[in-house]
Amino acid sequence: MGSPTESYARLGKNKNLIRTNTQVYTPNYVGVLDDTLLEDIDVAAGMTPGGWLIVNTDMSFDEIKSKISRDDINLAKLDATGLALEVLGRNITNTVILGALVKVSGIFTLDQLKDAIFKTFKASIAEKNARVVERAFEKTEILDMGFKLDYGADTKKPWSHTGLGNPGYKERDLAGVWYTPGGSEVVKTGSWGVSVAQWNKELCINCQKCFMVCPDLAIIRELGEDGEYHMAGVDEYHCKGCMNCVLICPKKALTEKMKKEPTGGKK
Ligand code: SF4
Ligand code: SF4
Repeated sequence: MGSPTESYARLGKNKNLIRTNTQVYTPNYVGVLDDTLLEDIDVAAGMTPGGWLIVNTDMSFDEIKSKISRDDINLAKLDATGLALEVLGRNITNTVILGALVKVSGIFTLDQLKDAIFKTFKASIAEKNARVVERAFEKTEILDMGFKLDYGADTKKPWSHTGLGNPGYKERDLAGVWYTPGGSEVVKTGSWGVSVAQWNKELCINCQKCFMVCPDLAIIRELGEDGEYHMAGVDEYHCKGCMNCVLICPKKALTEKMKKEPTGGKK
């Protein structure tokens, strides 16, 4: 949950040759951890021809193709959210996507990935993550378009996240801050989570604690005839499912409602 973010990794057989930690503008592989990003962001921008776009989704390949800007890359998909909820018990999909990366790239093996996981996490967490990458490897579906990556090609080119002429480029300042008409009011933070808070009016004692902890002002209050504000519900357009309100509510008047049931990676 949170605003859209990007992170980058460079891999090489000789790690001493990797001398830069900057952003990767021309990635060979891109993993998209939440398919709602396909609506808002040009996730395939800058990819090298023949690269692989891996998407956490239960959409069809045709639907994915209709939402991306490129037709010279290969596609892979898996229900990483379903697998994460089933195996890890939480919607943490970054290691799940790595299982898919092994399958499409072959640049390292599942055993090497699991070895790295056991070196990074304590045993109980590592075991679950190792299990989830195995499941991801099995469940990843591939649409190999026959485009081949050329690792030797010089892919350096001027590129910016928001290209000239793309939607939004005029509203972005040099620091990368977005100014959209209507401000945060129109940003659909509700698309960033897998669940929303659900309110039970009968149990609510109107303590307002939920309002205080909501990071997105998604708790709706109404001014009553008594001149006081009263809890009035949850604004699902902005609720990103952080569950702060559910945790703090003293009467369990707020509960978590999943937007869709996880498939457990069965799709
Ligand atoms: S879960 Fe609760 S606290 Fe979190 S964004 Fe939704 S309404 Fe706000
Ligand atoms: S924290 Fe719970 S009881 Fe208090 S106003 Fe919110 S929903 Fe009602």
